[in-house]
Amino acid sequence: MVEASPPDWDHPILLGEKVWWVGTPLQQDPFQCHTYLIDNGDDSILIDPGSMITVDDMLRKVQEVMPISRIRWIICQHQDPDITASLPVLDRLITRPDAAILTHWRAIALLKHYNVKLPFQCVEKMGWCLENSGRRITFVFTPYLHFPGAFCTFDTQSGILFSSDLFGGFTEGWQLFAQDESYFHAMRPFHEHYMPSQTILFDGLTKLSPLPIRMIAPQHGSIIPEHLVRFMIERLKELDCGLFSLAQSNTDIIRLSKLNLLLRQFFKDLVFAREFRAILEALAHLAGQMLPLERLDIHWLLDNGRFLLWSPEHHYRRRVESPPREVLALFAEGHNAIDWSVRGFYLCILEQGGQPALVLHLRDAESGKVRGLAVFRLSGAVVLSPEEGQIVNRMGEALSVASMREIMHYELEEERQRYYEKSIRDPLTHLYTRFYLREAAHRLFEVQDRDPNTALAVAIFDLDHFKSVNDTYGHGAGDEVLRAMGDILLKETRTADIPVRLGGEEFVLLLVGARMQEAFEVTERIRVVVAELALPGTLAGRKFTVSAGVAARAPRESLESVLERADTALYRAKHAGRNRVLTDDPGSHPP
Ligand code: GH3
Ligand code: MG
Ligand code: MG
Repeated sequence: MVEASPPDWDHPILLGEKVWWVGTPLQQDPFQCHTYLIDNGDDSILIDPGSMITVDDMLRKVQEVMPISRIRWIICQHQDPDITASLPVLDRLITRPDAAILTHWRAIALLKHYNVKLPFQCVEKMGWCLENSGRRITFVFTPYLHFPGAFCTFDTQSGILFSSDLFGGFTEGWQLFAQDESYFHAMRPFHEHYMPSQTILFDGLTKLSPLPIRMIAPQHGSIIPEHLVRFMIERLKELDCGLFSLAQSNTDIIRLSKLNLLLRQFFKDLVFAREFRAILEALAHLAGQMLPLERLDIHWLLDNGRFLLWSPEHHYRRRVESPPREVLALFAEGHNAIDWSVRGFYLCILEQGGQPALVLHLRDAESGKVRGLAVFRLSGAVVLSPEEGQIVNRMGEALSVASMREIMHYELEEERQRYYEKSIRDPLTHLYTRFYLREAAHRLFEVQDRDPNTALAVAIFDLDHFKSVNDTYGHGAGDEVLRAMGDILLKETRTADIPVRLGGEEFVLLLVGARMQEAFEVTERIRVVVAELALPGTLAGRKFTVSAGVAARAPRESLESVLERADTALYRAKHAGRNRVLTDDPGSHPP
């Protein structure tokens, strides 16, 4: 039972069925060391006996429960002095011939140097189990949780797991029992800093998970009562470890841990965000928790020398925009400075006497060249330790990858756009193609179908006797005439109109907002301009004419149908002697 009022640390505290806490609280020490006693009559067990600092107090408490002579087994879950330095004292006090120290062979190799008379027994040789006059104790091997021979001890009768370093915590204002889930925050830095890797921690926890644990009694920190056991196990499983490998000058492990948490969150955002802008929004948010951040801008230099920008004003939507002068200077520097390739970021002042900034380099994965800059503008100066710098660098690496992915999308899109442009423009005349006519008609016809007041008309042009131009002057000269016809169509129409080269010497003009009268007038004007066309060179002096047919689109009419009506008018124009414009109404002559 966890008591509401603080337990009396001056005496042993009963934790479960005949299991006692016999530790010694150390004043002002965030690193408490606990010893536990299992009262099993003449075969009692002392777990992690402790150091020379605590041994007297520990023995006094044991004697409140039982005489020392009842202790038969001393379990040392690993070899650290805070667990084992009291062994020589116990060696003198425990004289019964069947007593032994139970530990892993790796620990024995070290503990024998205490030169104690008590014999050692290897837990692995015992089959990881102690059958102790009806009380079954099992050992779970949790190697490398700071020591290769580390293990945990489970008392099946009380359901208490003696976890040694595992589930330990750095505690300020220490409490013997973890009160709520917040104890995890004491465990986090302890494990992140202490345990070498997440894999090793995960592995150990996975072995412990199936046990019917009703309480966890660690060597450090607070005892975890049953209702918090599963929570702590699951949370520890997802913990990052190996933070200490980062630490050199910075021993503020709690701050490192917090930074690491941010980094981890950022990696999660990277994986789950579908859009680059969502990643940047998340990054700005995280950076705001770590730095006095004013704004974050990302600049990227493209192969064509242009820059892309992602900025908060545009909600991190991509734009083609050059960076401000001071950032441009950083890009220039980036290509020259050697320092740049070594460090992944730097702190600088942007503009003289101006704003401090943290600038992260974004690199092209292949060449390793700095291609982009993430500029974190700050409201005040910051000092980053090398360890914090490493964390920032890791963010930079991840952001580089995300940026490259975004740039790849951008370039693909650009390429698609170029192909699209090619497919909609006729290379000879630069007029639109039949393909584009279809697309545009689809769009415009929809508008007209919704609003019948929108007028649409088509004109089909066909150069007269064009074959003879080719025959007389050659194909090149023919092309020149086609180009001239293209120019005329572009020049004589409004930007909303869609001039198309249908193929050969046939052209279509889709007239937007034009009724029959106006469409006829535009077409007629074009006919006149063609008739007046004077080309230089071999074609000098040669006259050209064009015939055309015009039709206004009726609501819901298909493109094929309206083109066919215009074509019928064109056919009539040809037969009526060419060089003229006719509408599709056979009765009416020019309206
Ligand atoms: P009509 O007045 O009846 O239209 O007589 P036409 O000679 O213009 O008629 P026809 O359709 O028989 O001839 C079209 C010619 O256009 C045939 C072809 O050689 C030529 N032509 C088609 N495409 C091109 C091109 O891209 N370049 C050149 N130079 N000639 C082309
Ligand atoms: Mg023709
Ligand atoms: Mg022709």
